[in-house]
Amino acid sequence: MSTKKLQKEVTEQVPVAEETKLPEPRRSVAFIGSECYPFVKTGGLGDVMYALPKALIAQNIDVKVILPRYKCIPWKYQEKMVYRGEFVMNLCADGRSFYVGIMEYVWDGVVYDFIDNEEFFSWGNPYTNLVDDIPKFCFFGKAALAALNYMNWIPDIIHCHDWQAGLVPVYLRTLFEGTPVASAKTILTIHNLRFQGIYNIPTVRYWSGLPDYVFNYDALKQGNDDANMFKGGLAYADMITTVSNTYAGEIQTEFYGENLDAHLRYHSGKLRGIVNGIDVEMWDTATDPRLAVNYDASNVLEKKKENKRALQEELGLVQDENKFVIGLISRLTDQKGLDLVNAVIPSLIDEHTQFVVLGTGDARYEDSFRYYENCFKGSVCSNIMYDETRAHKIYAGADALLVPSLFEPCGLTQLIAMRYGTVPIVRETGGLKDTVEPYNQFTDEGNGFTFDRYEAGLLMDAIIRARNLYLDYRPSWDKMVVRDMNKDVSWDHSAKIYRDLYMELRP
Ligand code: ADP
Repeated sequence: MSTKKLQKEVTEQVPVAEETKLPEPRRSVAFIGSECYPFVKTGGLGDVMYALPKALIAQNIDVKVILPRYKCIPWKYQEKMVYRGEFVMNLCADGRSFYVGIMEYVWDGVVYDFIDNEEFFSWGNPYTNLVDDIPKFCFFGKAALAALNYMNWIPDIIHCHDWQAGLVPVYLRTLFEGTPVASAKTILTIHNLRFQGIYNIPTVRYWSGLPDYVFNYDALKQGNDDANMFKGGLAYADMITTVSNTYAGEIQTEFYGENLDAHLRYHSGKLRGIVNGIDVEMWDTATDPRLAVNYDASNVLEKKKENKRALQEELGLVQDENKFVIGLISRLTDQKGLDLVNAVIPSLIDEHTQFVVLGTGDARYEDSFRYYENCFKGSVCSNIMYDETRAHKIYAGADALLVPSLFEPCGLTQLIAMRYGTVPIVRETGGLKDTVEPYNQFTDEGNGFTFDRYEAGLLMDAIIRARNLYLDYRPSWDKMVVRDMNKDVSWDHSAKIYRDLYMELRP
């Protein structure tokens, strides 16, 4: 190789090396939450607990993720866990003691510590009913902090997620005061305000063993007799975040506030919105082994057709690459705007349009989607199941993805859709509003189709606008597909914001 060429290569490498330099100083963070992909996942929280720690490592953050060791965690992970220690912990008001085991699993630079206790975590699913879940998460929150002390791993920040970890900031400033872990600052992230962990005061007081004074209106007390674990955590946390800017504003209003709007307005000085991203390695059309054919932005227009045909074949739909295929991947609950979807399906399905749903949840929605599949054989397919592989195939094979939610803290499906070149059709709420720029037909800009008020007519209108563009103005549609694939939906930007927040709390 000539010296000149070698010199050129060397100089070209310099900026790359500088870019990959990790930001200083290093900080340590313990994530505490109730689910995490791939061990156990019921929704977006599981995705975030997996992807954000990975992105934080690239920001020079030392992350430990603390999770319950549920029995339902697949054996292939359980068998790789390493025993890290055990101790006995007092929990209840009468000082009952419980076994706490710590099982460790290190993967991709992230340390996962699983809190082991047969009595609480031997049930099949992470969430059963509040009668079991309240004691379970009273135990989990306290055991997580006790485990940090036991391991002598004292983080700068304890980052708690949703109501299941809501008592952690409360425990830290009460029962753990004076212990090493109390030096940490706490952040409580709201992934979904609808679920709060509310039960009568005597039960929560008994299981948590927390002092009487936290059961006041400023902290846990709600109504006349109830204790709200999320509310207490929000009061005691040093900082509150939620998963989009718009949702941070919405939850301070009566409509979206789930009875905590006044509490959140009171604490608004420490409330921030930081939008979620997705793990772009896990969601990568170029390497995704579950797809019929892999693709990227340079060949998406051709290859998506092949994925569409494969999807149609697998699901028993009429095989035609020119049909407009609309997907919906969701928990089937009223949050997700399914009443609107049900209202529009009969007028939506025609010779150009197919509809594919994947989800489980409330019987009324499961039944109505089954009913529509029956009515529109070959055009509608209802997959009433939880199936990761099928989800990947729908993201790749559909042309558009519906997310018409009543409320949506962030929403991940619209981000995954864009990454897969599938155009989102969303209601302008929460993170949907922050991540999907509406299509502008005059400038040919935007990422998807949006509507504002929660009305079936407006959803129908948005779908028709999308379908018209697809059927009649394909070049503009195609440009949007490529634009969506090139949009940055990774964690890079938001992980930096979290890092700045950690630095702000522990300069
Ligand atoms: P939420 O957390 O409210 O359920 P999100 O949009 O934040 O909604 O996250 C949903 C996640 O769960 C996405 O990764 C989506 O692909 C996945 N998902 C939802 N339903 C199913 C299903 N039936 N099968 C497979 N994955 C699903």
